[in-house]
Amino acid sequence: MTDQAALQSVLDRAAAGGRITPQEALDLYRHAPLHALGSAADTARRRRYAGTEHIATYIIERNINYTNVCVTACKFCAFYAAPKDTKKGWSRDLDDILRRCAETVELGGTQIMFQGGHHPDYGVEYYEEHFSAIKKAFPQLVIHSLGASEVEHMARISGVSAEEAIRRIHAAGLDSFAGAGAELLPERPRKAIAPLKESGERWLEIMEIAHGLGVESTSTMLMGTGETNAERIEHMRMIRDVQGRTGGFRAFIPYTYQPENNHLKGRTQATIFEYLRMIAIARLFLDNIAHIQGSWLTVGKEAGQLSLHYGADDLGSIMLEENVVSSAGAKHRSNRQEIIDLIRKAGRTPAQRATTYEHLAVHDDPANDPVDDRVVSHISSTALEGGTAHPELKLVPTTN
Ligand code: SF4
Repeated sequence: MTDQAALQSVLDRAAAGGRITPQEALDLYRHAPLHALGSAADTARRRRYAGTEHIATYIIERNINYTNVCVTACKFCAFYAAPKDTKKGWSRDLDDILRRCAETVELGGTQIMFQGGHHPDYGVEYYEEHFSAIKKAFPQLVIHSLGASEVEHMARISGVSAEEAIRRIHAAGLDSFAGAGAELLPERPRKAIAPLKESGERWLEIMEIAHGLGVESTSTMLMGTGETNAERIEHMRMIRDVQGRTGGFRAFIPYTYQPENNHLKGRTQATIFEYLRMIAIARLFLDNIAHIQGSWLTVGKEAGQLSLHYGADDLGSIMLEENVVSSAGAKHRSNRQEIIDLIRKAGRTPAQRATTYEHLAVHDDPANDPVDDRVVSHISSTALEGGTAHPELKLVPTTN
């Protein structure tokens, strides 16, 4: 379908809350004028959030990279070290992790994202021990971490089912899963970039099990490693179908591949226009997922601001530490005041949110903005140095 009147008719239906098919989504993604696409997506967002449509949210969290040792060797990853590479590989001890949690609480963070490699020795017991220790020391912190890939890995190491692994880490303190590891769910692009990861079907199956056990999650999509437009839409169809059964995906977060320091170096990235079109299509096609997140860590601040006019209602996090996508070249940095200003200059009212998207603080008066520039200057991060050096803490936005 390339006829503009026919495309506008589909846009009008989607903007009014009607469901669109994967083929219609693909036609819109390929052929709808950018402005019309954004306008329809913004209308859909405003309708969903009638009464609070002027607000765009962010969260303060800490990403704790607990190890970079990984057996999975994804081709797009610049973070991992093979188990044999003892010079590059590192793991944090529990005291180090708890100190990072304490800093997070001190700086007003509400969420921990545990993110790391598939370590050959880390089974369910490792996560039980760490999550229960974090919850015991910091019951106020939400552990929004890991994903289906880690569950598949830890269950294999411990010789238990995915369901048992989820039950146990949930009982130990995990609150919800991040959408990590989704990458691209269709078989061809997934095998091309992450041949040792579980299949896309298995990723979704594990998320479905988690949702059935009351553990909700977000969902993500990695754009720009050579997948086709049809494969991008198929990725979303697979997620929409599971969501139709479980309702457990809180958000969808597309982000763009970063090309430095990994085996895919030189492959094309998704352009800003492709990214904005994807945000808009996500808002229109994923009519059963509440939140669409703009990921300005990978696309930049201006594109992040624009995403708020293309259907996104959330701008991710002020992240007190991040080393995975930044290892692959994501260079965008910010602090809390800057993200508040970005949202405001995009014409929206900023609000700090909880993991479950409730508004914790609405910044509707600039005179009352929180003063916390201290968070960029006095805390140390040792993630890339294996726990020895103490460079300044970096504040960056995130994608989960
Ligand atoms: S993306 Fe994750 S699973 Fe893949 S190599 Fe990197 S650390 Fe390992």
